[in-house]
Amino acid sequence: MEPRPIAILGATGSIGTTTLAVARAHPTLLRVAGLAARSRWEELVGPVQEFRVRTIALADPAAAAAARASGAFPGVRILEGTDGLTEVACLPEVHTVVSAVVGTAGLAPTLAALRARKHVALASKELLVLAGKFVTAAAQAAGTPLLPVDSEHNAIHQLLRGKERAEIARLVLTASGGAFRDTPLAELANVTVAQALRHPNWNMGPKVTIDSATMANKGLEVIEARWLFDLPESRIDVVVHPQSIIHSLVTLTDGSLQAQLSPPDMAYPIQDCLLFPRRLPCPAPRLDLSAPLGLAMSPPDPARYPCLGLARAAAAAGGTAPAIFNAANEVAVEAFVAGRLAFPGIAELVARTLSAVAAREPGSLEDVLAADADARSAASRLAPGLAR
Ligand code: MG
Repeated sequence: MEPRPIAILGATGSIGTTTLAVARAHPTLLRVAGLAARSRWEELVGPVQEFRVRTIALADPAAAAAARASGAFPGVRILEGTDGLTEVACLPEVHTVVSAVVGTAGLAPTLAALRARKHVALASKELLVLAGKFVTAAAQAAGTPLLPVDSEHNAIHQLLRGKERAEIARLVLTASGGAFRDTPLAELANVTVAQALRHPNWNMGPKVTIDSATMANKGLEVIEARWLFDLPESRIDVVVHPQSIIHSLVTLTDGSLQAQLSPPDMAYPIQDCLLFPRRLPCPAPRLDLSAPLGLAMSPPDPARYPCLGLARAAAAAGGTAPAIFNAANEVAVEAFVAGRLAFPGIAELVARTLSAVAAREPGSLEDVLAADADARSAASRLAPGLAR
């Protein structure tokens, strides 16, 4: 069998580098055909040499110019802008595209990849939260699989394989509870950014680590699950599971539950997407059952995690409400990291923005991006009123 050619959009981030580690572990099964990043071209030099990549793209044209001028990429085609990312995603030989660009920059390239019938391993939450309607429609029209990289959704995807829809009663997303799971509620107003960035189990970027502490991340994941598995928000549960070993569960019609377990290492879900539907040894630690292993689960406390309830309300409202939630949360997290907002102010700003900006059914991607922009400006206008 020929190695399966893959393209990575967002190659320099944590998902991108773990994808390269998985590719390194399976040289006879996977070949890296294209790499794309926003601007950090220097970090592409090593992977391009190691994997003999012939085409790269940089979203930032200035970075593409710098990469060309550097002479560090002999014989490599260097593309730029959104069109460049799209070209890498749609290279004729590419079989699977890992879509891991932060924000909305990956939206057009990912939709193009789906239309070109590529398998898409989706890591960017924003694409489903903002444009779930359009992304799932494109995948369905092309008859190509949308494979979730997010560990919870990947777990559910694994659990649903081979099952009839009628067997599925509910989905259960697990949540670590984040950095302030055990902090007394009264102390949350005084927690620092450094404390919020200390995630107990996963090693992730700063935005998602803070989103874990507020559970805005789990709220976004409820919205993702709603699109990926075509179930309403009301049939998607969330449970706090501090060990991050159970990645999610499915409640079956008869009342029994099935779970997927593995150590908290993104190599597992990434490899599952890249080799789908094959299962082979993963280059990550195994779960050690020779020592006692405790697995706890408890319901999330709404007073501790108001962002989860806000995200659920946005999911239930539908239309552009999830885009408004997402944009407001991004502005709020930025303000918190900059020291302009106390930790509980994140949820407060999200709530106020959701009240201030009306949601509607988007007819196009432009409608979604307009809602995103409106929510960002509303949140930026409202933030000073909540300053610490
Ligand atoms: Mg997740």
